[in-house]
Amino acid sequence: MLNKIPLFRALKHDRWVRPYLKRYRWTLLIAIFLGICTFFCAGALMFTAGYLISKSATHPYNILLVYVPIVLTRAFGIGRPAFQYAERLTSHNWVLKMTSNFRKQLYDSLEPDAVFLTGKYQLGDILGILAEDVSHIQNLYLRTIFPMMVSWGLYVIIVVGIGIISPLMGLWLFVLLALMIFAVPFWSILVNGARQAAEKKQKNALYADLTDNVMGVMDWTFAGRGDAYVKGHQEHENQLIATKAAMHRFELFRDFVQQLVLLAIAVSLIIWGAETFGGVHGPNTNWIAAFVLAIFPLDEAFAALPAAAQETNIYTDSLLRLNNLNHPQKAVDHQLKLTAPYQFDVKDLHYTYPKTNREILKGINLTIHQGEKIAILGRSGSGKTTLAALLRGDRHPSSGTVTLNGVPTAKFGDQMADYLGVMNQSPYLFNTTIANNIRLGNEDATDDQIWDVLDRVNLKGMVEALPKGLDTMVDEAGLRFSGGERHRLSLARILLKDSPVVLFDEPTVGLDPLTEQDLIDTILTQLKGKTLIWITHHLQGIDQMDQVIFLEDGQLTMQGTPQELAATNQHFRELKAADEGRL
Ligand code: ATP
Ligand code: MG
Repeated sequence: MLNKIPLFRALKHDRWVRPYLKRYRWTLLIAIFLGICTFFCAGALMFTAGYLISKSATHPYNILLVYVPIVLTRAFGIGRPAFQYAERLTSHNWVLKMTSNFRKQLYDSLEPDAVFLTGKYQLGDILGILAEDVSHIQNLYLRTIFPMMVSWGLYVIIVVGIGIISPLMGLWLFVLLALMIFAVPFWSILVNGARQAAEKKQKNALYADLTDNVMGVMDWTFAGRGDAYVKGHQEHENQLIATKAAMHRFELFRDFVQQLVLLAIAVSLIIWGAETFGGVHGPNTNWIAAFVLAIFPLDEAFAALPAAAQETNIYTDSLLRLNNLNHPQKAVDHQLKLTAPYQFDVKDLHYTYPKTNREILKGINLTIHQGEKIAILGRSGSGKTTLAALLRGDRHPSSGTVTLNGVPTAKFGDQMADYLGVMNQSPYLFNTTIANNIRLGNEDATDDQIWDVLDRVNLKGMVEALPKGLDTMVDEAGLRFSGGERHRLSLARILLKDSPVVLFDEPTVGLDPLTEQDLIDTILTQLKGKTLIWITHHLQGIDQMDQVIFLEDGQLTMQGTPQELAATNQHFRELKAADEGRL
């Protein structure tokens, strides 16, 4: 039956909610306990008040007899807000802890794809949408999961409590309260859940329709069919309004049913109270009002459940979307300390992107020795950047291994930066000073060290000429770094970091041939002695490499020194000719 509720289905394979429920279970339990205490106090307050009013209405032959309930009334009266406050503190604290984990998890899930994403969408938009999902999940806890658990706790307490006094009445409340806590919310999800789905569809259709037709409004007018369009649009709009009205009607009706059940509970308690504590002049008539009144504050705990249950449909979408993000397996080993020489080994590497079924890399074998300069060539889309991500450990092989000094690269996490520096096609400059942009390579670098690396990448003169020197903001008026200068700044970062291996992913795309040759020369002289992995699809500077490999259709098709390939490989010669002809 629970499988009928979308939220429960979504929770089954969930990685976003369940792990944290487990990790922070003690705080969660405390929050729920405090929530139960809050409502217990509210009920008990009315209970003692009811007793007190009845008792005081009869002739009190001794004022001391009502003294205990007076004190209790006070205690519960203070207890209720105190517990409530503590509960809010605990549960919000708990939720904030969760959400900060969520956001980190969100970042970790998106970050490996960030480069790929920006091409297609604005990364900011995606983060925005997903952050909304995170806050939906936050609400899922605060508005659904907590109240649900609290009301279950109360349910048990009430049924057991009354059951001890009178098993039959306990059984009766067991049934009536179950209606309020389980049946009505469940019914709400079933009925309005379907309507919510319909509403969403209609809304989307309306948006699509509208934008489409606003774009083509001239065509409608020229065809003389403007009225027909407006009529069609109105029809769709009316459907949407009808769905909304149906939802609202159902909510009113549902709340009415909920109130009827509460009424039934109150009336049953009156009848039961009269029976049990019976006799008009019986000594215990005071208990009747006590029991009846106690049930009303509890309504607060139960009344919101159907609406909360219905909201779960929204959360379910968010949950599914978040779970559909690919999830980096984080098994980072923080104790890694490698020593030279550094060697990458790729063995029978296969890679397929998650949720696609096209294998991008199909059995790659490759060794990159310390100090070697290796060029990876291949057409656009052949998988060069994918191979780079695997070398960096950002992605995990589908099968086969990628290791650095025998350790799978996936185990390095952020520490990979100590061994492998990366420069890609469009190095990013942050909106801060030049010095800070370079210090990214090494936070502790002195100004002298920064000047030194700027000198090595031939930017010293340019920066010295700026009035504020190193403290110039990178996008300050008048200062726009050209593509070539950005690459040099990025290279300065890498030099500062001084990692033994450096990977370039098409570092010279978009540069003119002379700037490109200049940059290549700078790179080759400044990084002498380091391992160089050079991904490119054209061949300038290729002759200075020790090894050239060619990636085609997921496999390495040529492998050798540039001189060997030039002598023996027709394809390579053709490529070179084409590339030089292009200049
Ligand atoms: P280019 O020279 O254009 O940079 P490339 O050789 O670096 O190309 P990759 O970026 O490795 O190629 O992409 C190889 C294939 O994998 C492409 O078909 C691409 O569409 C696909 N691909 C890349 N990133 C992802 C991703 N995150 N999810 C799914 N498919 C991807
Ligand atoms: Mg690429």
